Amino acid sequence: MKTISKKFYPLALGLSLMLTSCTKEEKNVIEEAPASAVSAKTSFKKLPNNITPSNRFNISSSLLTVSDFDSKLNLSDAVAPSECSDTPFNEVADFYNDLLIEGFIAVWDGNPDAIGIILEDYFVINQIAAADENKNTDYFGADGKYTNYVKKRVRSLEKFWDMADLVTVNGQHTETLEDLDFIRYVYENYSSATEDEIEEILIIAESFNTASNQIPENPFYASDGFATFDKKIVIGDGIVTFLEDTGLDPKVIWSSILAHEWGHQIQFLNFGKWEYPIPVFSDTPESTRMTELEADFITGYYLTHKRGGTYNWKRVEDFLTAFFNIGDCGFESPGHHGTPIERLAAARAGYDLASGAQKNGKIISQQAVHEAFLSKLDEILNSPLSVDAVAR
Ligand SMILES: [Zn+2]
Repeated sequence: MKTISKKFYPLALGLSLMLTSCTKEEKNVIEEAPASAVSAKTSFKKLPNNITPSNRFNISSSLLTVSDFDSKLNLSDAVAPSECSDTPFNEVADFYNDLLIEGFIAVWDGNPDAIGIILEDYFVINQIAAADENKNTDYFGADGKYTNYVKKRVRSLEKFWDMADLVTVNGQHTETLEDLDFIRYVYENYSSATEDEIEEILIIAESFNTASNQIPENPFYASDGFATFDKKIVIGDGIVTFLEDTGLDPKVIWSSILAHEWGHQIQFLNFGKWEYPIPVFSDTPESTRMTELEADFITGYYLTHKRGGTYNWKRVEDFLTAFFNIGDCGFESPGHHGTPIERLAAARAGYDLASGAQKNGKIISQQAVHEAFLSKLDEILNSPLSVDAVAR
């Protein structure tokens, strides 16, 4: 059996998705699902409480990964921070969350193994597909709708940051989970399940894939967004769908996520060389906030630079406003992240750096961008920007 060599450090804007309902109201929605959503062959109206993760896949090792949109399942009754409950992103996430859970319950025969497979393993399998197996990773958007756009943006980032052919950007898609042979392959190579167990698992997978229009079609299954130390960026169609459903331009979303993850790649590239006021990537709230704010600063600089993304500030601000809301709402410990205001201030400072250089259009070095960020960090952390500027 192969051991998976990767480890996710939840350093960034991780998104913990709740696959049980987050609030009492949502529970009621599930319990009172219309008859059409509940198959006649089952009387199950909600998932059992206190499900423990199956841990079927042993994911552990030492590879540094910055996870920005981590579709980690939480089958407990955790509650999302209430102050974030009315953000557009959360409304979208709740909508798809409920669709997925209702879709699962509608075709569920009560076998508890199915929960671990369909609502846990599927996410790990699609993460392995995108990060380890390069399965369906060479296109972006369902049916490759954004492939050309993303490739163009990658070339722009490579040129801007002088990083040709250094970073691999991988797509992630729900349709990957329709491939039962691939699911079998992952269990055979990444888990300790026996042949008999794998046969049972495949029967369950096929039955859900066939009977439910949410499995694996629901965008949650492709909602990863992260950067790894071995120079990979993964962006799932699902996270773009969520943000697009809040009313944002999908091209701005692709560009912004890419530019932010690219910022982490620049940090990795300079790891050990760049100095920071506190230990970098040390898995503390202050350290995480610092590297996230720097990635936002780098994003603001690139996206608004006239030799980079050439965006005006308003477009960047629109995206970052949504992006920040995700971070605050998703994490179980909001204190691990920069606040929306701090993050907006960081991106704004990156924009100011770019616009200050607009006269000669010069692109300053990665080192100079890093130093500019550090010189602004105190200002960013004490920004006079108001909540109203962010919570629109
Ligand atoms: Zn990040």
